[in-house]
Amino acid sequence: MFMSKIIVLIGAPGAGKGTQARLLESRLGIPQISTGDMFREMKKADTPLAKEVQKIMSSGKLVPDAVTYEMVKARTSRDDCHGTFTLDGFPRTAVQAEMLETLSKELGKPVVAINIDVPVEILERRLTGRRSCPVCGEIYNIYFKAPKRKGFCDDHPEAELEQRSDDTEEKVKVRLETYEENTKPLLAYYRKSGRLETVNGDRDAEAIYKELESLIGTANATV
Ligand code: AMP
Repeated sequence: MFMSKIIVLIGAPGAGKGTQARLLESRLGIPQISTGDMFREMKKADTPLAKEVQKIMSSGKLVPDAVTYEMVKARTSRDDCHGTFTLDGFPRTAVQAEMLETLSKELGKPVVAINIDVPVEILERRLTGRRSCPVCGEIYNIYFKAPKRKGFCDDHPEAELEQRSDDTEEKVKVRLETYEENTKPLLAYYRKSGRLETVNGDRDAEAIYKELESLIGTANATV
């Protein structure tokens, strides 16, 4: 019998965690649990918490651990997380890593941490150059994957491409510093306990995906 796992994708902002988590979901049916996406959804609400989250996110800093954990716990208790699932963007601090140990025990699923490693100068251009189509969500990059017509989607010529408010140069600097300070130490934490795999993230998404798939092995059979 195969055992369900919690796949943790660790990597700096722009490393490609979201891209890989989406591929794991669409090809293997492993749900993508993205704290960033959940917070982006949450900040649209008209509540004091939503306003606070919006303020924190637009500064490039981290939402408090307790708020983040509550959201992850609620989301992972849904039916689709019965088998293996991917955490994309969680944990991001030592406290969150501790919280995840508790969750892992409660659910009886071991953690497999995968570090998607990308040099910092590439991350800067991936983030500050990132633009997306508001209609289909297609992601472009002004440095690496420019649209045919500057500023507009190839498939939706009427749709002006958008930039995430935290992808500006100033915010990217804070986000990368936040990663170095709070999240990077988690690599040593998972390495020490023999649960860390590292993949070279400075390649095309398909090459990275193939390696990920072989690392997580039979996880799909557990869903
Ligand atoms: P992301 O889309 O993963 O880059 O996340 C966007 C923003 O959401 C981050 O810059 C944080 O403000 C917030 N966020 C996402 N995940 C977490 C987390 N695990 N802990 C705290 N804040 C988070």
